[in-house]
Amino acid sequence: MIKAVRGFKDVLPEDTVYWRYLEEEARTLFESFGFREIRIPVLEKLELFQRGIGSTTDIVEKEMYVFEDRNGELLALRPEATAGVARAFIENSLHMKDPVNKYYFFGPMFRHERPQAGRLRQFHQLNVEAYGVKSPSLDAEIMAMLHMLTQKLKIDDALHLEINHIGCPQCRPIYRDILINFLNNQKEKLCKDCKRRLEKNPLRVLDCKKEGCKNIASQAPQIIDYLCDQCKDYFDKTLDYLAVSEVPFVINPMIVRGLDYYTGVVFELTTDELGAQNAVAAGGRYDNLMKELGGPDIPGVGFAIGVERTVALMKKRYTLEEETPLFFFAVMGEEAKRVALPLALKLRQEGVKCEMEHSDKSLKSQMRKANKLKVRFTVIVGEDEVRKGVLTVRDMEEKKQFEIQAQISELLKLAEAAR
Ligand SMILES: [Zn+2]
Ligand SMILES: [Zn+2]
Repeated sequence: MIKAVRGFKDVLPEDTVYWRYLEEEARTLFESFGFREIRIPVLEKLELFQRGIGSTTDIVEKEMYVFEDRNGELLALRPEATAGVARAFIENSLHMKDPVNKYYFFGPMFRHERPQAGRLRQFHQLNVEAYGVKSPSLDAEIMAMLHMLTQKLKIDDALHLEINHIGCPQCRPIYRDILINFLNNQKEKLCKDCKRRLEKNPLRVLDCKKEGCKNIASQAPQIIDYLCDQCKDYFDKTLDYLAVSEVPFVINPMIVRGLDYYTGVVFELTTDELGAQNAVAAGGRYDNLMKELGGPDIPGVGFAIGVERTVALMKKRYTLEEETPLFFFAVMGEEAKRVALPLALKLRQEGVKCEMEHSDKSLKSQMRKANKLKVRFTVIVGEDEVRKGVLTVRDMEEKKQFEIQAQISELLKLAEAAR
């Protein structure tokens, strides 16, 4: 028995109904905001992520699926979408072609994380990216869109929008030095990972999940107090736009995001309902990413929503079921199949969902199947019906049985009445 790779999971039909609902709601909403769909490869050159996400981040250092292909080229399965979308943007000169550079994107991401902690190695995201403008009103609009999606999915009661500002190339280095200084005095109390992060990526210490580090982080100097005038003004305006848009939020100075490309406003959508995995969506500004990747100096903002976590919240709140077929054709014998098959095909052509039995089981067993399928009408076709040119229809809801002519128009009348 060959099993799936550890951390990789099948999504079965009883779950895909939630996935599809989420995707359809997201698609409709994002497009109403002017976002357009982009699709990018799952595989990129390793260098893209090293330069885009940062070679000292946990993702790039420890979690990527990296391998050499048959030509000796170093490749990686994408661990997130933003670097790839930025690459596509530069490569296709989208800033020259499109008047509005707003894209959304659905797809799987890959990280070699610990499955024992309930983490998946292939997980899925909905991504949104807007390039070309740096403006507090755009940032607020994007967060409002995220909030609106959670309202449409009826999970907004489970979520908090937490927001922070992590400075710019002028003010962040000053804060960074102050933070390193503070953390150095507490170094012995930090966990192993944070000791390592201290020099390379000290902001990461602030969102370490270990108790000891959390304690230290809670007393650490906060970036908000060290923002330059420009950053402070930008942050204030963003918060004001959120307030007038009636998007609820809290400021959390501990939100720093783990990727190097973030600058300025960052945010997370968190929940208390999923244990340690509390971030359902996350995003922020990445104004230097394009330039880092050798492209034009174009700012960007966006977010990613975790599909598995969002679906978990949806399932806690409501049940979605697949559409049941309207008709089930119970057929006895080959002549009956010759009558039923073209009728079933025509129904589907008209968009009516139906199911036809192909095994040669007894009528009793076919009726059991019709019950299990929860169809409205079972259409029985046996020798008698074939001879008389009729169909016996059992209305499973009204619990009555009648005959109709074996014609598609008769079946469509029933379908119409059942709508
Ligand atoms: Zn600044
Ligand atoms: Zn730590």
